[in-house]
Amino acid sequence: MSKYNFCAGPAMLPPEVMAKAQKEFVDWQDLGVSVMEISHRSKEFLALTAKCEASLRRLMDISDEFEILFMHGGGRGQFAAVPLNLHLDDKAAVYCENGVWSKGAVTEALKFTQVTELDVRNDSDEQFSIKPVSEWQFPADPSYIHYCPNETIDGIEVFDVPSHPTAPIIADMSSTILSREFDVNKFDLIYAGAQKNIGPSGLAIVIIRKTLLERQGLAKPGVFDYALEVKQGSMYNTPPTFAWYLAAEVFEWLEQNGGVKAMEQQNIAKAELLYGFIDESPFYNNKVAKHCRSRMNVPFWLNDESLNQQFLSHAKEAGLLALEGHRIVGGMRASIYNAMPLAGVQALVDFMAKFAKENS
Ligand SMILES: *Cc1c(COP(=O)(O)O)cnc(C)c1O
Repeated sequence: MSKYNFCAGPAMLPPEVMAKAQKEFVDWQDLGVSVMEISHRSKEFLALTAKCEASLRRLMDISDEFEILFMHGGGRGQFAAVPLNLHLDDKAAVYCENGVWSKGAVTEALKFTQVTELDVRNDSDEQFSIKPVSEWQFPADPSYIHYCPNETIDGIEVFDVPSHPTAPIIADMSSTILSREFDVNKFDLIYAGAQKNIGPSGLAIVIIRKTLLERQGLAKPGVFDYALEVKQGSMYNTPPTFAWYLAAEVFEWLEQNGGVKAMEQQNIAKAELLYGFIDESPFYNNKVAKHCRSRMNVPFWLNDESLNQQFLSHAKEAGLLALEGHRIVGGMRASIYNAMPLAGVQALVDFMAKFAKENS
């Protein structure tokens, strides 16, 4: 029986990548040792990092105006690194709030800098939705604007990119990076924890416009200092080498499979299949407005929530894993990142139809 892992993060990785990593696990590039057991400054590892960066630049069409960093500390590490590096004494940062993670970023930023919170939701009891980006009202001159294009827990995605005449645009792309085409030039800093669409947890990828590196920010730990990390080639301290290796393998897999454009097409097909089924069914529901439904994380609820545990245990028996919703919102959640094939979503829909029939 094929098993499909719908975990929100750490999430499933492409099976081809996992098989190759297994093959290379104890003997990488005929060195007689694992990639985990060599110096990060060895010529073999440096070649890997160069290849990894070049691959990401091709995949996202990242110009020379940006540096790419491979850092420690995951997504939340960046919740701190962003204000530590970009703080300005006389200005507040704007944080757009559209769900749990963008609020988490505010909590961290408040420790370091002045924050203007901007609620961009339009909630009613019937529906969760986001105001059109063109209606987000920014103050005249913030130090920067932070938003989260995909709210992993709420299942809400913002498809337009906000803009501002003076303030840099910062995006937490942890759960949407590489899932669809973004024009990187519309951003000044993009960051992502790796464990959703890239590789193992712990690693964070930062794409930063070079001009932003001139900001002094606040006193900060060296490991969170963007300018220092650029100078050191992301090796101020020993980087998470195995996660970096696996990220490089995932990027190669993406390039071999048609890149971000092909992923986007497949992600649209997966999302349409699952939401289409939920909307038609009298047994399940999703309350997010159609224009801002996440293609990566699909929360859904059984109309009869007393069946939740039965649903989860039967799903597990059918090889459909990790469907329990986040503890904050309850219900179910299917995370369908790049590595999830259409066949996995089809198997889920087939199971949901069968379960509904048996319990109606
Ligand atoms: C998972 C996630 C994070 C947190 O990542 P950690 O690596 O656990 O710190 C932050 N933002 C978003 C949007 C996420 O999905």
